[in-house]
Amino acid sequence: MRFLITGGAGFIGSHLSDHLIGRGNQVSVLDNLATGSVDNIVHLRASEGFCFTEGDVLDCETLERLLVEADRVIHLAAVVGVKLVMEQPVNTILTNVQGTANVLELCCRHRKRVLVASTSEVYGKTMDSQYMVRALQEDDDITLGTTKRRRWAYACSKALDEFLALAYRDENSLEVVVARFFNTVGPRQTGRYGMVVPRFVQQALAAAPLVVHGDGTQTRCFTHVADTVEAIVRLVEEPAAFGEVVNIGREEPVSINELAQRIIALTGSPSPLTYVPYESVYGPGYEDMHRRTPDVSRLRELIGFAPQRDLDATLRDVIAFYAPVGAWKG
Ligand code: NAD
Repeated sequence: MRFLITGGAGFIGSHLSDHLIGRGNQVSVLDNLATGSVDNIVHLRASEGFCFTEGDVLDCETLERLLVEADRVIHLAAVVGVKLVMEQPVNTILTNVQGTANVLELCCRHRKRVLVASTSEVYGKTMDSQYMVRALQEDDDITLGTTKRRRWAYACSKALDEFLALAYRDENSLEVVVARFFNTVGPRQTGRYGMVVPRFVQQALAAAPLVVHGDGTQTRCFTHVADTVEAIVRLVEEPAAFGEVVNIGREEPVSINELAQRIIALTGSPSPLTYVPYESVYGPGYEDMHRRTPDVSRLRELIGFAPQRDLDATLRDVIAFYAPVGAWKG
């Protein structure tokens, strides 16, 4: 089977490439290296069936040339990370909306099966409502903040991608599934754009303070990238998933304070915690969700699988990835 992975030089895409090549598939990666890196895929370059094209999903000619050769398309390319979204709202919206529109239109024209990456951000502030204390289900209503607060542009751009994917399914019978990822973590993820786990791990290994945004009582659910990859490859082969939006994540919430403490314990670091208000990191009026836990019943029903690797195992893998360059030796 031949896969086209847009954003395949990124964190999730590079692990997906490893997985697919390791199982005898052919993989073509299209990536503009905006947040991805050749370092993530350099080990694959000599592999039979792997090819990398530096290019943009906004360039329809290149996209189409690669897409026609593929049996499956996994669309991961996007502007990702709170920091970039806050700094580059125009680029975020254009890449995430127009890029996905290009992928879907070409998949429709050439009758290619496609998985579109979405995000738990789409749920917006839903979870903070007093009426919504349970895990998030795909068909829940969503509440986004005002258009004056640019952090919501990311969620909104991905929500539009979802609408478009489902519209292509309804109008053109496109074989498309939308995957809503909850915080995926693992080796190769960079902390440069605000992702909390690699940031904390690097700070702990450098014996520097772990910088917590807000008061640290907010909770998140972290999923090992290997579990996310497994869910992606199974979902795209499941006909019952076409036309569906599916949560991918683990159901175990952890507060950011607890996450920091676990990383300190696992690294044996002497780092203290320090606290900074969201506003001083992302500007005035920044909003964050207090909790975000997925309901993964649909994922289980569709493919008989839900992410399993526990948080400590996941953190150990991230620590092992960063340890050689900045290990705290105690
Ligand atoms: P990532 O930044 O490592 O991967 C995104 C990749 O897309 C990068 O390699 C980047 O260079 C590439 N890219 C960006 N703009 C592009 C363009 N115009 N043309 C071609 N390539 C482009 O991030 P990731 O965590 O691997 O995210 C992959 C997907 O999963 C994204 O769609 C993201 O929104 C989604 N997602 C990830 C998480 C997570 O926790 N990692 C959570 C929710 C959703």
